[in-house]
Amino acid sequence: RRTRVVVVGAGPAGLTLANVLRAASVDCLVLETESRRFVEQRPRAGFLEEWAVRALEERGLADRLLEHAGVHTECEFRVAGERHRFPYTEVSGQRHYVYPQPVLVTDLVREYADVRGGEIRFGVRDVDAEGIDTDRPSVTYTDPSTGGRVRVACDFVAGCDGARGVSQGWMPAAHTTVARHDFGVGWLALLAEAPPSSDCVVFGIHPRGFAGHMARSPQVTRYYLECPPDDDPGNWPDGRVWSELRTRLSADGARPLTEGPLIEKRVLNMHNYVVEPMSYGRLHLAGDAAHLLAPIGAKGMNLAIHDALLLADALVAHAGKGDGSGLAGYSEACLRRVWQYQEFSQWLAEVYHGTSSGDPFRAGVALARLRRTLASPAAAAGFAELFLGKDTDF
Ligand code: FAD
Repeated sequence: RRTRVVVVGAGPAGLTLANVLRAASVDCLVLETESRRFVEQRPRAGFLEEWAVRALEERGLADRLLEHAGVHTECEFRVAGERHRFPYTEVSGQRHYVYPQPVLVTDLVREYADVRGGEIRFGVRDVDAEGIDTDRPSVTYTDPSTGGRVRVACDFVAGCDGARGVSQGWMPAAHTTVARHDFGVGWLALLAEAPPSSDCVVFGIHPRGFAGHMARSPQVTRYYLECPPDDDPGNWPDGRVWSELRTRLSADGARPLTEGPLIEKRVLNMHNYVVEPMSYGRLHLAGDAAHLLAPIGAKGMNLAIHDALLLADALVAHAGKGDGSGLAGYSEACLRRVWQYQEFSQWLAEVYHGTSSGDPFRAGVALARLRRTLASPAAAAGFAELFLGKDTDF
């Protein structure tokens, strides 16, 4: 069979891309290894930057989001037993929208498959691509219902299969640089079936390690605890988790934490990478397939949407007017923002981890950064600009 674009992966990047292609009547097929139920329930991110929400709204992809998302205008740093509010909307004019990733994915699958009539193959196996350096590429996969191999001829392949996908490996090594950074720490990522314990995101800067509190919904809250890389979640029984969260997030006048069952407990080794360039021949990577950001600045899902919209516009222009300029400039246009977010993530990681590093020099630098951000209007504006990310394609 034949289609114009094969989209590999039904995460935020692949589904955003597929929705825009479908709306522009550009033929595409989405291939996904997991089931629909699985992708609609996989808990991950929760914060969307306002520019991303507006961009989704312009494409008719934010109706439910705008109806149901929480809106945040401030965050709070807790350090040395004190609370410091940071009113980022006052500083930047931009807001954060709290909308759990599985809910966004559910909306995007529904819109693409059920409303716009797009085609997704769930549960496929052994996805592979051929001829990406020719103008007749194709993608093959094993169909879950027949067990047979299927070949789909296409004009373009969009690699949107995340950090554990296969499309990154289709980039020829001689043509590609993978820049990596390892933060040398782990984060225990937790989801508690408990209402948020603050009206905003809380960052706990503590000599025992970073702790984070982020709303997901009125019933569910995400927490993070810095831990050694490769730590075993089994080392963190619920009692230890709550005791550590109470210690690291304690501050005068802070509301006590509302505890509840911990429904997710896993260790993330904090590392980032960037694949450069993001395109080769007829293959274009988007989202985590091209660049990973540890969840330090809540950036990954936002970048995935940014890439997907740029790629969608470029593919639509190519299909409609034969205009290849968007595709030619796609990688560079994405990477400008990717590197700004990487730099921000590295800057912020040091604020989070410096005081617990055991190195008094790093601790001094971290606290100096934080004091400046909280006290200097110029520093606050710089922080808010990158945290909300409206115009950061420098
Ligand atoms: P993914 O969401 O990973 O989607 C890729 C899809 O491809 C998946 O459905 C996968 O099953 C599928 N796939 C994999 N291999 C194949 C294959 N071989 N063939 C076909 N399909 C395949 N980001 C934020 O912006 N804000 C946050 O607050 C935030 N918090 C996070 C918290 C945690 C704990 C984690 C882990 C991440 C967080 N992120 C956050 C990052 C965010 O979740 C990712 O950046 C985002 O999911 C990237 O979207 P994507 O579409 O590129 O990739």
